[in-house]
Amino acid sequence: MGTVFKKSVPGREGVWPEKPATKVEYYIPSELLRKGSGMPSLSELDVVRHFTKLSMKNYGVDSNFYPLGSCTMKYNPKFTEQVAALPGFARLHPAVSQLKGAGHLCQGALEVIFETERLLSELCGMADFTMHPMAGAHGELTGVMLIAAYHRDKGNKKTKVICPDSAHGTNPASATIAGYEVVSVESHDGIITPEALAEVLDDDVAAVMMTCPNTLGLFEKHLPEIVKMIHDKDALLYYDGANMNAVMGKMRVGDAGFDVVHLNLHKTLATPHGGGGPGSGPVGVCEKLTPFLPISRVKKLEDGQYYLSYDAPKSIGYVAPFYGNFGVYLKAYAYMLRLGRKGLIRATENAVLNANYMRKRLEKYFEIPYNRICMHEFVLSAVNQAKNGVRALDVAKALLDKGHHAPTIYFPLIVKECMMIEPTETESKETLDLFVNDLIEIAKLANQNPDFIKNAPVTLPVSRLDETKAARDMVITDDIK
Ligand SMILES: *Cc1c(COP(=O)(O)O)cnc(C)c1O
Repeated sequence: MGTVFKKSVPGREGVWPEKPATKVEYYIPSELLRKGSGMPSLSELDVVRHFTKLSMKNYGVDSNFYPLGSCTMKYNPKFTEQVAALPGFARLHPAVSQLKGAGHLCQGALEVIFETERLLSELCGMADFTMHPMAGAHGELTGVMLIAAYHRDKGNKKTKVICPDSAHGTNPASATIAGYEVVSVESHDGIITPEALAEVLDDDVAAVMMTCPNTLGLFEKHLPEIVKMIHDKDALLYYDGANMNAVMGKMRVGDAGFDVVHLNLHKTLATPHGGGGPGSGPVGVCEKLTPFLPISRVKKLEDGQYYLSYDAPKSIGYVAPFYGNFGVYLKAYAYMLRLGRKGLIRATENAVLNANYMRKRLEKYFEIPYNRICMHEFVLSAVNQAKNGVRALDVAKALLDKGHHAPTIYFPLIVKECMMIEPTETESKETLDLFVNDLIEIAKLANQNPDFIKNAPVTLPVSRLDETKAARDMVITDDIK
């Protein structure tokens, strides 16, 4: 469709900008000024159509189903946007809280931080939370830094962090950046067993990072034994809470024995994400880790006034400018209040129900390596289709032709030709059926006419690329259909 500049017709005018009161030459040397306006000559309608068409090439939850496993691409209700746009929040400068005598100008925002920390502590059964981390991985890094600070304070010399082989790649990355050696523990039948853990758990282990339900969508049913083993070694237990959508109101992480948890508000608590953010990855801790939480902390005086406290001698310091992504967790706060206890529990139940419904409907057509009741997501394998040369990648591309977003493919790494599907609770049965029917048709075609699938997509502006060549030998063009 080309850029808006290509559509320019000399002499056509849309808007008549006001002449500035001061000539621009007053501010910018004339030799640096662009000759001519540099703007395309178009009518307002030309511009509106151009950008409307461009926007329609976007794929998002607002337009279509987005079953990207592990990412929880659920629908974000619009009322949270209205709350975040309230001028009292949206126009508040974060530095106001630090101006002497201006505390009364930001009481509402401080209350939001304070109350969000209370709600998340309640939801997870933790002693306290920090809202500073700005993404899941940032929360992990903060969490592992808290663990390191705890061991340092106790005089423990520990050098290793254990991550399951099914872990999200950010887990070992965060532990490594925090200075630990990462040791992998193998899963058996999709989960971690006490026997497998015993093989790698020694006195040098500072923490074990678990995801529950794990990235296969399976609940770690040996948790009680595992928790005890880890605490017996004076190691701490980290909970990657990116999959919290599966257990809200059903399991409290703290009650299960975890010491640190991060949540992905941009997944579980319905704030928009994708394309790099913004996110929010608050971290919850048990009582003994609270002295190490990042600064600042929001405190409440007896008279009900809120203030920011920097008085925390054991704190790991700053992990983010100001107070993290305020606008994002403000939406999560509004969402939690709106749904309430019952609503959050129902969200979790429907997320799990939707995943199991799809799993059952698909089990005759695809290999399901761990085919038992799953949590909010499940993993299919295209190994049978691969016998005809149709791989998970091809199935994903064929789904694009049918107008769907592809599931996550080739993650977790422990399942061959894997496709990870997470429907979320916000989708209707009709939407799930449409997707499942199309996937079944693709499975049948993979037997009858594998080449057709290997050539997909054929209906999109960009057809099948040589992905290596596309990365190394880029052709950048605005000339798309
Ligand atoms: C998404 C995810 C993360 C990382 O979160 P980001 O906000 O993308 O940094 C970590 N662990 C799991 C299991 C996830 O699904």
